[in-house]
Amino acid sequence: SDEREVLGWDDFGEAARDLARTVHASGFAPDIVVAVARGGLLLAGAVAYALGTKSCGSINVEFYTDIDKTLPEPVLLPPALDAPALSGKRVLLVDDVSDSGRTLRLVVDILTGHGADVRSVTLYSKPRTVLEPDYVWRRTDKWITFPWSALPPVTKENS
Ligand code: 5GP
Repeated sequence: SDEREVLGWDDFGEAARDLARTVHASGFAPDIVVAVARGGLLLAGAVAYALGTKSCGSINVEFYTDIDKTLPEPVLLPPALDAPALSGKRVLLVDDVSDSGRTLRLVVDILTGHGADVRSVTLYSKPRTVLEPDYVWRRTDKWITFPWSALPPVTKENS
């Protein structure tokens, strides 16, 4: 379908708080919140504050280059996360959406491989995902417009 799911800033704020309440109610108290950059950065910050978790990090992955255009595989971009430091830690992994799920699959496997106790949270998941996150706010099969990427990067002409 060419219809889109549009998430506004106010709804994003509500969603972040809702997800934090759900994580807290489940009894999972993360030692560290890890964002999948860039899409998971804003939710990760909001959830880390809402849970009172001070330790935060990020892992940078590129997969989509445009709507429905992906690289052959999700690839890690620098800077590298200190994954060995997560051994034995409860890690809350945060992303915007689990679409194919291949990005989350890659990162969950990396962190689990280093001995972390990983749970994942996203704003959205889609029906085809290979990795249903532990915590999800909403499900959709549409392309989602997130508030942080709704506008093109600033230029001299449009700023
Ligand atoms: P996946 O590996 O689950 O297919 O998706 C990886 C990344 O692609 C997501 O974290 C997100 O940044 C981007 N992505 C996937 N689906 C969408 C979407 O519907 N809208 C937007 N804006 N980004 C998406």
